[in-house]
Amino acid sequence: MKKHNFYAGPSIMSQFTIRNTADAVLDFANTGLSILEVSHRSKEFQAVMDEAQALVKELLEVPEGYHMLFLGGGASLQFAMVPYNLLRTKAAYLDTGVWAHKAIKEAKLFGEVDVVASSEDKNYNYIPRDYVVPTDVDYFHYTTNNTIYGTEIRKDPEVPVRLVADMSSDIFSRPVDVSKYDIIYAGAQKNLAPAGATLIIVREDCLGKADRAIPTMLNYKTHTAKGSMFNTPPVLPIFSALQTLKYYKEMGGIKELERRDLAKAGKLYEAIDSSRIFEATVPNHEDRSIMNVCFVMKPEYTELEKEFMEFATSKGIVGIKGHRSVGGFRASLYNALPMESVDVLVQAMKEFQDKH
Ligand SMILES: *Cc1c(COP(=O)(O)O)cnc(C)c1O
Repeated sequence: MKKHNFYAGPSIMSQFTIRNTADAVLDFANTGLSILEVSHRSKEFQAVMDEAQALVKELLEVPEGYHMLFLGGGASLQFAMVPYNLLRTKAAYLDTGVWAHKAIKEAKLFGEVDVVASSEDKNYNYIPRDYVVPTDVDYFHYTTNNTIYGTEIRKDPEVPVRLVADMSSDIFSRPVDVSKYDIIYAGAQKNLAPAGATLIIVREDCLGKADRAIPTMLNYKTHTAKGSMFNTPPVLPIFSALQTLKYYKEMGGIKELERRDLAKAGKLYEAIDSSRIFEATVPNHEDRSIMNVCFVMKPEYTELEKEFMEFATSKGIVGIKGHRSVGGFRASLYNALPMESVDVLVQAMKEFQDKH
């Protein structure tokens, strides 16, 4: 049976990415060798790195003065690398969920942290609005898409200080004005590649200002100086990332991806909002994520959750179990997920409702 993959991460990848990666594992760039056994200093791999960086730059319209890095350690390492490199006395953070919270925890190791607002009071089911970013902080950090709770900030904020964003789960799903940001980071395993690489877009002129010794590998300058090849990079995820970026370009670029993502999310939210038995966990439409759609059974139907999960599984639907801190269901609609899969889920919800 055809599977419909709604996992939150690692998550669905395009067949283009998977097939080309599989081919390169067998024979990479006609070298007669697997990509798994080729030097990262070979001209063939250098070409992969160069093209991947160039395509990130092209697709996101990254201005001059930025570096594109592919480092190990996941987005979670960036929670520490950002303050290590940027925090001198104080930083401001927006607390919109578990990932934001973890970033705050790391920043506190390096200086004062001003949490400008938090939506913890309602289990992070909304985006705080009335907050002010102070001018006396080194930077403001926020999470664009809260993967666990299904909330998203889809507008680049205007702040009077340097801006840093964790875009792990919604990068490449909307145009971004990169010039507003000093650092954007994203673990690969949601909209880009298999786990193992983190894409970091860093503005050169924000570096070298913190007055502290930084371990070589945790210093962005180490990596920007060497084109992200100071040490052995995560070769295979970078190769896969390049395939995904080519696929994105082929599909028509970021605006087209956004159009498709909006259509997919629109259809699913519409089905939830018009349902008699399901309801969305994020009430405010403006705050709803177009990548991770969270929903539950209405209170009078909660005992049907397990049965719906089994029904969905029987239709080939995979990975819709909600995060344990929210419960219910979460359908992740990353770029590689076709509309067909949303249709199958919506149909399953309707059929299930008709039975009850
Ligand atoms: C998945 C995720 C992370 C964690 O990424 P790792 O690569 O596992 O460290 C961080 N932030 C957000 C928004 C995420 O979705």
